[in-house]
Amino acid sequence: MKILVINCGSSSLKFQLIDSETEEVLGKGLCERIGIDGSVIGFTPAGKDKIVNTTPMPDHNRAIELVIEALTDPSTGVVGSLSEIDAVGHRIVHGGEAFTSSVVINDDVIKAIEDVSDLAPLHNPANLIGVRACMKAMPGVPMVAVFDTAFHQTMPEEAYLYGLPYKAYTDYKVRRYGFHGTSHSFVSKRAADIVGKPYDSLKIIVCHLGNGASVSAVKNGKCIDTSMGLTPLEGLIMGTRCGDLDPSVVEYLAGKENTDIKGVMNILNKQSGVFGLSGLSSDFRDLEDGYNKKDAGATRAIMAFAYRVVKYIGAYAAAMDGVDCICFTAGVGENSPLVRKTVMERLGYLGVTVDDEANNTRGKEIRISGADSKVAVMVVPTNEELAIARDTAALVK
Ligand code: AMP
Repeated sequence: MKILVINCGSSSLKFQLIDSETEEVLGKGLCERIGIDGSVIGFTPAGKDKIVNTTPMPDHNRAIELVIEALTDPSTGVVGSLSEIDAVGHRIVHGGEAFTSSVVINDDVIKAIEDVSDLAPLHNPANLIGVRACMKAMPGVPMVAVFDTAFHQTMPEEAYLYGLPYKAYTDYKVRRYGFHGTSHSFVSKRAADIVGKPYDSLKIIVCHLGNGASVSAVKNGKCIDTSMGLTPLEGLIMGTRCGDLDPSVVEYLAGKENTDIKGVMNILNKQSGVFGLSGLSSDFRDLEDGYNKKDAGATRAIMAFAYRVVKYIGAYAAAMDGVDCICFTAGVGENSPLVRKTVMERLGYLGVTVDDEANNTRGKEIRISGADSKVAVMVVPTNEELAIARDTAALVK
């Protein structure tokens, strides 16, 4: 089956066409600046050069039309006609408590996604715009929703409740949901394949370290805890997000900076994390450069980032009563030997040892713990698009 995977943001739209039998990417691209002057679509057919087309995209309907034109173009397209696309898989950020797995989209599903949109006001409405634009352009083609939150819905109450008045949960659904679920699910399953043991017999910690970053504890094939919460702001120190924080900081900082809650939230989301700590950059390539040149800001940011990862691994080893595998994934996890080594060196108490030669690689699947390590530590590149395509194919078969 040929599955179109769509990841729709408020002004951008990422797409990939994947053959679900061979799991080959037939073509992929990105529409940027939708609804803004200077809209552009970039499309790369497999094995060919990228084609860039600067053309007006007043809305997502036009963006989807351009995606279809790119995929079906007689000379540079990757399918003969639209009828070759069997299904569309959509990334949906927030499924609330309504969705514990991926689902075929119908009117009830759209309504349920709308109902939880106040939990992800920047993302869910944009995701739905993509769904509706595809429905309009491809009538009759099945659409599937794949949620960032679904994998974490197996968390027990003790892990997902905040220490707030219980009413905050029952009346307002304030609880921990977790995100990056598609990645945590994909990577933890792959880890079980790599160590050759049944998924439902393992204790796995996945460290998804990208610009957004989260850790999950997957015990016997089910997520039992994860570091992001009601929103993706909780947990690890991230590119520009602060992660865990004393809530009193909000009031205190508002007073000091003479701003309101909105102003403080902007600081916590956009000016914090390794960017705020280093005063240099949110990108670990810049931070590693800085670290190698003994820049104090870069060093402090990397060390604080790694320390928070170490703390979560310790917490999750405790929560699962042990750990068999630790996986590093996403931009930083796959590409930063420095971050991985800094973390692993502090896991000696778990019996973790480092294979330095293996760790000194970037972007490929590899075991990086020593032969004598009591825990298998590995780099497992994530592939959220493939995971979405797999779920979509399985549901529409
Ligand atoms: P992601 O959000 O998973 O796409 O990760 C993006 C982040 O990965 C970037 O902001 C960088 O911090 C980091 N990254 C990507 N490539 C490298 C690299 N070669 N070395 C270190 N960090 C990298």
